[in-house]
Amino acid sequence: MSTKDEKTTRRNFLKTVGVLGAGSIVATTVPFVNATAGSEARKSATEIVPKRPFGKTGVDVSILALGGVLKMSDQLVFRMACKMGVTYWDTADSYGWGKNEKAIGKYFTKFPNDRKNIFLVTKAATSDPAELTEKLNNSLVKLNTSYVDMYFIHYVKDVKDELTSGVKAWAEKAKAEGKIRLFGFSAHKNMEASMLTAAKLGWIDGIMMSYNYRLMAKDEMKRAVDVCAKAGIGLTAMKTQAAFTANFYASIGSETDDALKMTESLMKKGYTAEQAKLKVVWENPAIASICSAMPNMTILQANAAAAMNKEKLSENHKNLLNQYAQRTCSGYCAGCANLCEPVVDHHVPISDLMRCAMYRFGYGDREKALELFKALPPETKRTVLRTDFSEAEKRCPQKIEIGRLLKAAIKDLA
Ligand code: SF4
Repeated sequence: MSTKDEKTTRRNFLKTVGVLGAGSIVATTVPFVNATAGSEARKSATEIVPKRPFGKTGVDVSILALGGVLKMSDQLVFRMACKMGVTYWDTADSYGWGKNEKAIGKYFTKFPNDRKNIFLVTKAATSDPAELTEKLNNSLVKLNTSYVDMYFIHYVKDVKDELTSGVKAWAEKAKAEGKIRLFGFSAHKNMEASMLTAAKLGWIDGIMMSYNYRLMAKDEMKRAVDVCAKAGIGLTAMKTQAAFTANFYASIGSETDDALKMTESLMKKGYTAEQAKLKVVWENPAIASICSAMPNMTILQANAAAAMNKEKLSENHKNLLNQYAQRTCSGYCAGCANLCEPVVDHHVPISDLMRCAMYRFGYGDREKALELFKALPPETKRTVLRTDFSEAEKRCPQKIEIGRLLKAAIKDLA
């Protein structure tokens, strides 16, 4: 690409983001203006979010997936996602205590012809075949559809324990009945071990795992992604913004300066830091899609603009992201529960509590944090308060003050 072309691309990207970021709802046609070519120059191209193969399943999916919890009143977000080509929709039976599935079902009632264009994924947190049947049937009713494109076991912690031969038989039956097209799981902790084990099973179509500019630099994660890609498993990245679990720490007080430096540099190029964090993940072709919570039009449109922009991040910006990740690592839990949980005296679900803290302190979403906290064993508060976390803190590669953070989370949520 020539320098002139690059400038034009950047200008158009900025223009698109500027228009979209203002909350406009008329953004399915993205203007491409060649300011250097006279009256022939102005042209309009109907751009939509591109697709990628989902592993070796034979299915192509949009590289941006609509995630998070949307309400009945958010129908316009679904409509515009559809028009912008964000046709991979992710939900779970638990999201918003079932409200998210119902909101999608309401959309399909009004726009039934859109169902065939959507790659629809839902999930349930159980490995019991009878419960899976019940939960899938309930989801299909709420979603107002006869099938989902992919069904996940939600929040898998140990593939060997949870993806049993009974689950395999269940998935095969559900496929034969036409209720699901593909099957897989989501992983928020010990992701790499789960991915490596799953790649050997031979019957997992897709995995959605925590994956972002922090985690993708880890050798174990690189290897797990490569192995899954070779096994033909479709990969969806989630938690790509790598929100802090502990942004109240003095130890990451430099976060503001680092974030400002990075943001200023990216803005000169036409990106926000949030868009750069998406773009760096898309640079790995083994990642089929990014599932992103997009609770409003502004975020949907900014993310879609990033997905449509083909310009790659510069090495300088990748380095800035890396530096930022390293300097703020003590505010981010990497989900490596196998390191910290076995070395505390009482059984404390450290990684699960970190996830609660991430929603509470990182996203400011107390409702979601409470939903997750209430699913933990009732004795969690008691065990956290009586546990010495010093050995776990020594093992933590992120250098998180685990005891302090968990006690703060308990104080807020219990
Ligand atoms: S607290 Fe530390 S060791 Fe434990 S899961 Fe998080 S990053 Fe890993």
